[in-house]
Amino acid sequence: MLPGTGYTPAMSTPVSRRGFLKAAAVGAAATSCSHVSPKLRPRAPVAISSRNGIHAVEIAVRKMNEGLPPVDAAVIGIEGVENDPNDTSVGYGGLPNEDGVVELDSCTMDGPSGLAGAVASLRNIKNPSQVALKVMRRTDHVLLVGEGALRFARAHGFAEENLLTERARRRWLRWKEGLSDQDDWIDLSENGSHGKEYVDGHVERPTGTIHVGCVNDKGDIGGCTSTSGLAFKIPGRVGDSPLIGCGNYVDNDYGVAGSTGRGEAVILSNGAARIVRYMAEGRSPTDACLDALRDIARMTKVPRLLDAQGRPNFQVNFYAINKAGQLGAAAMRPSQHSRMTENGPEVMDSAALFGG
Ligand code: ASP
Repeated sequence: MLPGTGYTPAMSTPVSRRGFLKAAAVGAAATSCSHVSPKLRPRAPVAISSRNGIHAVEIAVRKMNEGLPPVDAAVIGIEGVENDPNDTSVGYGGLPNEDGVVELDSCTMDGPSGLAGAVASLRNIKNPSQVALKVMRRTDHVLLVGEGALRFARAHGFAEENLLTERARRRWLRWKEGLSDQDDWIDLSENGSHGKEYVDGHVERPTGTIHVGCVNDKGDIGGCTSTSGLAFKIPGRVGDSPLIGCGNYVDNDYGVAGSTGRGEAVILSNGAARIVRYMAEGRSPTDACLDALRDIARMTKVPRLLDAQGRPNFQVNFYAINKAGQLGAAAMRPSQHSRMTENGPEVMDSAALFGG
């Protein structure tokens, strides 16, 4: 019998998918409450994010206080950063791929339902996190990519626009011109010019992403990660951000974790799922993040990814909250994160595995 329904589904009786899902949802709701210990929940909603999410965490907590599920609160918090042309790592204004096209990745995960939705290599839609939420709520799938993700977004009425801002286009062009002296793209300095466009000199490939993890006062958990990915990536490259268990993971019994930084390292270690597993084993959120970073350091073997001391030469940031509402963050190298608790919004240092 499905708990709380008084209904025993007869397996031989054909049941429509909708009818079955409805009955199962009632059963799941009835059972999911039974093992929630009243001790395991924060006194008030809390949220954690990458450093660029100081406004996002504030908005997310406000939305949870208004009664929105944690995953929706995380997405609404992230929307403002996706819309901000000055954040060149997320959404509108994000740095493009090597062809000069912005491709966005995002995923959402909802603890109470255990469902997730994600999009990867999505073009022309500035809020991939909203599309990921729709994949989670309106399909039986988890991940849509490329053209299929765009068609799905169109079907749901998302507006298409050019996401490449002038600022991002100029940075891409300078990167392209500076790549090689063996091709026909001439770097301004090669022609003896020191024009205004060249003031920054060598163009770095900056990293950046936003992750927001949320736990409400019932102990329900949600998370979202959104990014334009590695700047100037090979078209079609997908990082950790839209991959469930890598850039974002939620288990409603234990907590939420997410990441920013070198996505390839987080994919290879299944970073977010690993951290939630460590919290399930009893580690604090910060210790869980640090242990996952140690694992990445142990698993990084090829010389091109190691510094002179044999440590990873790249940055990874992890963020986590456990079901009780304790927050933690750690990074391979010194870094900061944003959080919103009863103390209000704060930017704090993350624990660092290695010095600078
Ligand atoms: N993790 C993102 C990716 O690999 C990039 C970043 O956070 O900097 O796509």
